[in-house]
Amino acid sequence: MKALVYDGKLSIQQVPDPVPAQGEVLIKVRYSSICNTDLEIIQGYMGFKGILGHEFVGEVVTEKSRYVGKDVVGEINISCGHCYMCQTGRRSHCTNRSVLGIFEHAGTFADYVVLPEKNLHVVPPNVELPNAVFTEPLAAALEIFEQTKINPTDNVFIFGAGKLGLLIAQVFRLSGCEYTVFDINPFKVEFARGLGLPAKNLRTLLPDERAEICVDCTGSPDGIGVAMNHLRPRGKLILKTTVADPAKIDLNQIVVNELNIIGSRCGVFEPALSLLSQKLIDVEPLITKVFPFDKLEEAFKLAATPESIKVLIRH
Ligand SMILES: [Zn+2]
Ligand SMILES: [Zn+2]
Repeated sequence: MKALVYDGKLSIQQVPDPVPAQGEVLIKVRYSSICNTDLEIIQGYMGFKGILGHEFVGEVVTEKSRYVGKDVVGEINISCGHCYMCQTGRRSHCTNRSVLGIFEHAGTFADYVVLPEKNLHVVPPNVELPNAVFTEPLAAALEIFEQTKINPTDNVFIFGAGKLGLLIAQVFRLSGCEYTVFDINPFKVEFARGLGLPAKNLRTLLPDERAEICVDCTGSPDGIGVAMNHLRPRGKLILKTTVADPAKIDLNQIVVNELNIIGSRCGVFEPALSLLSQKLIDVEPLITKVFPFDKLEEAFKLAATPESIKVLIRH
């Protein structure tokens, strides 16, 4: 099959078809999308070499699977099921895990991918396939609500109006909180406003303006410091950014202001699919461009530009 391989540089290569192990199924990828994590991996994050990609929708082709012929999305953490973390309901933190297209498991920028059947969720019929690729990042946005109590009376600052920030802002829109999205890029501010989100240029944020909850989804090493500077004492700082080159920050502020720091990664898929199915999250306008598979290298170039939101691949 054809696959986009990262081995220090990106190239489409002919590779052997993946073979499903026990409990796994073979999936023919229909659409995939480029995430900030993919862009960070090619900058050295995780030291991953191999087939990239973890946001996808595809059709199960393994005959003996109960999902055969169905369009599915898949949770990206491949867990063992028997370690302490798995046994205590923290499968995404499995000690023996691999992660689709990120750590020791070939990703979705390929004709086929394998995943455990238990990771799969059937796409509801009224969710269009290109929109279904947003399930994984939307689940990551919803994870914030799994992790911490958010009161409708809280005010919230969301830093970064990119791929993930625009989903996080839309989830907060449903929460009743007073929230504002900040970005330094005027294009992104306008874009967010076009979605009906209250967005402002970061440069207009005054040093003494603070929120109860600050979310960093800038994808930039400086994001955490900015978000921390605008958090009220005893507020919650939610960190979504992973970068190849981590920031150096002053931890004294955390002690003095008694800040709550919450690292936030992957979330559960069912609520994300439910929101997509109810059309409560606007994802279609976030699609900057859909590339055919053989233009994947070009797609990566566009995805790395500040004016692109979500770049999709049609397989
Ligand atoms: Zn992602
Ligand atoms: Zn485990």
